[in-house]
Amino acid sequence: MTEARGETPRRTGMTEKCGVVGVALNGRDAARPLYYALYALQHRGQESAGIVTHDGFQQHSHVDMGLVGDVFGEGDLDVLNGSAGIGHVRYPTAGSVDSSCAQPFSVSFKSGSLGLSHNGNLVNADEIRDELAGAGHAFTSDGDTEVIAHDLARNLLEEDLVRAVKRTMQRIHGSYSLTISHDETIMGVRDPQGNRPLCIGKLEDGYILASESAAIDTLDGELVRDVRPGELVVLQEDGRGFDSYQLIEREHTAHCFFEHVYFARPDSVIDDTLVYEARRELGRTLWEESGVETDVVMPVPDSGRAFASGYADAASETSAEGEPRDENDDGVEFAEGLMKNRYVGRTFIMPTQDERERAVRLKLNPIKSTVEGKTVTLIDDSIVRGTTSTQLVQLLKDCGAEEVHMRIGAPPIVAPCYMGIDMATREELIAADKDTEEVCDAIDADSLAYLSTDGVAGVLENDRDDLCMGCVTGEYPYDIEGEETDRDVARPQLEGTALHADD
Ligand code: AMP
Repeated sequence: MTEARGETPRRTGMTEKCGVVGVALNGRDAARPLYYALYALQHRGQESAGIVTHDGFQQHSHVDMGLVGDVFGEGDLDVLNGSAGIGHVRYPTAGSVDSSCAQPFSVSFKSGSLGLSHNGNLVNADEIRDELAGAGHAFTSDGDTEVIAHDLARNLLEEDLVRAVKRTMQRIHGSYSLTISHDETIMGVRDPQGNRPLCIGKLEDGYILASESAAIDTLDGELVRDVRPGELVVLQEDGRGFDSYQLIEREHTAHCFFEHVYFARPDSVIDDTLVYEARRELGRTLWEESGVETDVVMPVPDSGRAFASGYADAASETSAEGEPRDENDDGVEFAEGLMKNRYVGRTFIMPTQDERERAVRLKLNPIKSTVEGKTVTLIDDSIVRGTTSTQLVQLLKDCGAEEVHMRIGAPPIVAPCYMGIDMATREELIAADKDTEEVCDAIDADSLAYLSTDGVAGVLENDRDDLCMGCVTGEYPYDIEGEETDRDVARPQLEGTALHADD
């Protein structure tokens, strides 16, 4: 049995699982491309949306609570002048849900105006906030993005842009993909371990930085490459190119594997891997590791679809014992057995367990003919609290399924995420204190198997040491108070640390 490790330590800063974008164009206003890009990133955050632009004289900002389509009306975009700007969509979290944390965060100070969009989570934001507050900085939110903005604003009074960013990067610890506007200059920064995605794209008349390449596709642009961990990318103001500064180098990355499993769009390319193909490959591996012969394989829509397609593909080639199928063996049938109501929000945003259960039922309805009298394998990407799988196993059985076998495209989630995914607390995670057999009993499935951590690392073609798998191992690639770390990482010592521009 997996041992539960007590209560989840208090989160420092806010969990920010978001989408960020930045655009520099040659003459044309940036507001509309930013707006379309935010639409493409809407899955990364539905709580608030915003755009900040700069027209050479002044900064313009429109930020509000709600979905992109609700936040921006035609008139709002028209007054966001300037060919340079950044945008943000923010993920709903259990923490404070108010407009003080909506982004981009913008501030004007002595040497210009600053806008900041942040995806990720700092683990030492409180320490930096205390220090800055002691030096007279006034804060308007409890978010860690404002901490970065103040620190950068202070450094910009003393240093040029690149050195100021480097100095801030040396102080903050945790995960961050940032798009920043300093007057008309647009920049992108990725934390030294590259935990959250960020990529560069070329547009017809400029350049774009975005959390996911799907945003670049939406604007008919071309993916240039990922921003490298520890790199600062500065877009040229005429939109003709970008400059790169490798400010911090680390031996290992800590790419979040869950971006590939659940969070990112399947049509995005992240760290050189097309997410859809990665999910299909994870599905194939799942069959190889724990395939079970049933009449039919079906995905939990939409999260399990690519996994189930890879799983069924592999199942058509080899038997569960790994033997090649002969001509007379039809293998396993792939079917869409559950239909999704697209107008119901994600189950996670429902604050109570009761509401979450109702939402699953509202969201998914079985197709009786594909289920009745059959043995079924149901495939999803992950089990978090166990709400979805418990409900769906019951639903399929009520619909006449003879057996329901669950197969999951990720390892058991046993620990919280501190790096930006709202994953529930340790006490809420069904696998935190139950082994696979006990979870299987709890969800009332006929069998349950998860993908192994080695299976995940093998598919993502990554050394396990280059992935962040804290939520499935309980060991984190960052120094988090009250948790174990699997790396030799230390928080920056703030007090008494003399940071020089040429460090
Ligand atoms: P649960 O019902 O709590 O076990 O959650 C598992 C379901 O939620 C799966 O269908 C996943 O696709 C989905 N899911 C996994 N992680 C998240 C997340 N961080 N936010 C929202 N949904 C998630």
